[in-house]
Amino acid sequence: MSRETAMDHHQTAGELPPHVLIFPLPMQGHINSMLKLAELLCLSDIHVSMLISDYSHSRLRRHASIESRFSRYPGFRVATMTDGLPDDHPRAGERSMDIVMSLVRVGGTEFRRVMETTDALSDGGARRRVSCLIMDGVFSFAVPVVEEMGIPFLYFRTISACAFWANFCFKEVIEAGEIPLKGKDEDKYAYWKREDFDLPVTSVPGMEGYLRRRDLPAFCRVNDVNNPVFQTIITESKRTARSNGLILNSFEDLEGPILDQIRNHIPNLYPIGPIHTHLQARLVSKKTELPLPSSSFWEEDRSSITWLNNQPTKSVIYVSFGSITLLTRSEVFEFWYGLVNSGHRFLWVMRPDSITGEEYSVPEELDTGTKERGYLVGWVPQNEVLAHPSVGAFFTHSGWNSTMESVAAGVPMICWPYFADQTINSRFVSDVWKVGLDMKDSCDRVIVEKMVREVMEDKRDEFSERGVRFAELAKKAVSEGGSSYSSLNRLIDFIKSSV
Ligand code: UDP
Repeated sequence: MSRETAMDHHQTAGELPPHVLIFPLPMQGHINSMLKLAELLCLSDIHVSMLISDYSHSRLRRHASIESRFSRYPGFRVATMTDGLPDDHPRAGERSMDIVMSLVRVGGTEFRRVMETTDALSDGGARRRVSCLIMDGVFSFAVPVVEEMGIPFLYFRTISACAFWANFCFKEVIEAGEIPLKGKDEDKYAYWKREDFDLPVTSVPGMEGYLRRRDLPAFCRVNDVNNPVFQTIITESKRTARSNGLILNSFEDLEGPILDQIRNHIPNLYPIGPIHTHLQARLVSKKTELPLPSSSFWEEDRSSITWLNNQPTKSVIYVSFGSITLLTRSEVFEFWYGLVNSGHRFLWVMRPDSITGEEYSVPEELDTGTKERGYLVGWVPQNEVLAHPSVGAFFTHSGWNSTMESVAAGVPMICWPYFADQTINSRFVSDVWKVGLDMKDSCDRVIVEKMVREVMEDKRDEFSERGVRFAELAKKAVSEGGSSYSSLNRLIDFIKSSV
């Protein structure tokens, strides 16, 4: 069909809605947030294309039926490109950073190919050419392409404002001699005893009172500041300031002072979170059915909900370390003994392939304790789990999606940050918002047991009270007139005004 004919069936180019291209890092957490943004924009009658890797597309098709989820939005499309890695690459643990570095290498060429061979995804004229790009953090390779085409671009960083702000300040932190955090080659639990890691960080404005070197995003744990991953984070973070704006999955009542620091450099800031609560609120106001369908890379095991239905109120600690974390057998056993010895009930997501090393047999006492009080699953509908009345706390790796989901559900946390931004998120949970405990740099059954008891017994009321308060503030932020609600409207106005 010729372009003119295609358009006759729809509208003339001038009447077509704006067309946003959303381009996430092809990882579970990033795609979760970005798909929610896609849906929020679709609800405002904006056309959306989502550019993801072939690999993540195949995972979503297998387990999340992304096409049927979006079938009610005729303006939604998925486009794909390679992430440059072989299909059998593990894309997990520290090797998940290979996705980032591979995209930095091949992304520019691939992105140009997608845009040029499809006339900027215009579907033969049925849609406007892409009129605005919203992209993830390390994708500055896309900038020359969109600048040539006259397309404005914004970043959506799916990490916390505090992690973004620390990343943004890395250059200054190096100049102040506060990084590198030498010792990367040591056993990672040796950090636990390193007194130099407890020194304060004074060069990230706004965090002087509580940020220690061990809380800095884990990228800083390098012997040499010329480490390529670290350098990529530094340069890409600073480049954010050259965009038309920055979207964050956060809200004013949670990270207001840090958002203000960022505004000094990036005035067009759009904190629209918690994004999953925001989407729920806008769907409800449009009388669209809930709950939200899955965007999971793994099959969700709904027997987890059946099991929770049979447990007493707030009696269960939910355990999950997200989509990337790899655990050694010894780490698994420390957590497992700690949980069983605490005497509390637990629901534990042990993702398939998340445990490294040889096969192991489960000691009898763990097997018995688990049969009595525990339930192990491969993957769960996490938001439904966190909202379940039987859940009393969340033992988490402090990924930002998980943290926001827990904050929005008012569930206290025990944090065991694994890498990247998680080390700073856990500090905010424990020392700024005071809705949980931070066990970073340790992995010991005695500490796990103690913290489970603390969060489920001794500090339960204190954490729950604050948790409920933050959950209310989160709800207020995404309700009509709230700060995130208004930010999203401003974003939509920007998108509409830029065609
Ligand atoms: N998640 C889920 N089911 C699970 C475990 C995790 O749906 O069993 C989701 C969770 O709700 C969150 C995402 O996976 O949205 C994990 O993202 P996060 O940023 O917390 O961590 P990452 O996986 O990126 O390390």
